[in-house]
Amino acid sequence: MKRYRIAAIPGDGIGGEVISAGVEVLTALAKRQGNFTLAFDHFDWGGAYYKKHGRMMPANGRDLIKSHDAILFGSAGHPDIPDHITLWGLRLAICQPFDQYANVRPTRVLPGITSPLRHVKNRELDWVIVRENSEGEYAGVGGRVHQGSPLEAATDVAMFTRAGVERIMRFAFKLARSRPRKLLTVVTKSNAQRHAMVMWDEIAVEIAGEFPDVTWDKMLVDAMTMRMVMKPQTIDTVVATNLHADILSDLAAALAGSLGIAPTANLNPERTFPSMFEPIHGSAFDIMGRGIANPIGTFWSAVMLLEHLGEQPAADRLMQAIERVTADARFHTPDLGGRARTIDVTAAVIDALHGANS
Ligand code: NAD
Ligand code: MN
Repeated sequence: MKRYRIAAIPGDGIGGEVISAGVEVLTALAKRQGNFTLAFDHFDWGGAYYKKHGRMMPANGRDLIKSHDAILFGSAGHPDIPDHITLWGLRLAICQPFDQYANVRPTRVLPGITSPLRHVKNRELDWVIVRENSEGEYAGVGGRVHQGSPLEAATDVAMFTRAGVERIMRFAFKLARSRPRKLLTVVTKSNAQRHAMVMWDEIAVEIAGEFPDVTWDKMLVDAMTMRMVMKPQTIDTVVATNLHADILSDLAAALAGSLGIAPTANLNPERTFPSMFEPIHGSAFDIMGRGIANPIGTFWSAVMLLEHLGEQPAADRLMQAIERVTADARFHTPDLGGRARTIDVTAAVIDALHGANS
């Protein structure tokens, strides 16, 4: 019997609501599968912790979770605390030191869900966006001087390293090769950003040489938004910088029906530290505490967590259960135009786990 230890960090806002739903579903699934167990350790880090202790997580926080098999994360973001403090103090404080450099974001229109793109049939939108997750525009390089004076100045320097770009390109080409269409789009902005983005393009060409069986193309990020909307069927796997992919993946999530559905994995592919799985949405202040958060993004993230652990049959069973539930409009939360509550969706997925055949 395999025993996995999972660190659960709900964070703030609806983070707590969707993570407790996720833990419930994963626990039921492990019991149903019977060949592994999941032990959850819960960490109350985030906004409330900050108000008490002046920091988002304890100084030795990473030591407490570095030996876990995976991390299930909710959201960092509190109405009373500036966003850059919550983000850098918790989510990025885990992602960056744990070198979770590959952020993988699958997007599909799940059964029963309507894309806002009228002409899109379900199978025509099936993408995976790979986001560089360790450097680029979010490297944290920059500074601010002369605050409050008319001479005030500030910089955020986008920093790209050859090693960082090579490894994300290689990861993306490999992922593209594992998918049926073997098709990769490299997103860039090398017309306007003439240093780092030009290196990014050059490294893409070099790495492409290692993957002769992968078809690839290059697209400027602004044109990419148009292609996603106008010709979604021409896209399969996408690789983009930290900032570009952050924006494109929110668009992707919306085109697939709702931000509340979209999952993500922050992977350390070499497994030198645990990887982290989370819905892509944030704390959703406008709906927190009302019991109507869509937990599907968290459940799909749990599928990715199970795949990372190597528990593919369990991952498949959960994905089937999710699709069975989304297919039934009675279980759509308000973001999908329905009236279901988080607990209704959770109970329906747990029911479907027992019905699903695999
Ligand atoms: P958000 O994702 O919290 O919300 C955007 C919109 O989508 C809101 O209208 C919200 O109600 C809706 N929504 C999001 N998730 C939903 C779900 N599961 N079910 C139903 N509706 C859902 O983005 P925001 O408003 O830009 O940010 C709010 C806070 O969250 C900020 O503090 C931000 O920094 C933080 N944030 C954190 C993360 C993260 O930790 N990974 C990601 C994004 C935003
Ligand atoms: Mn984002």
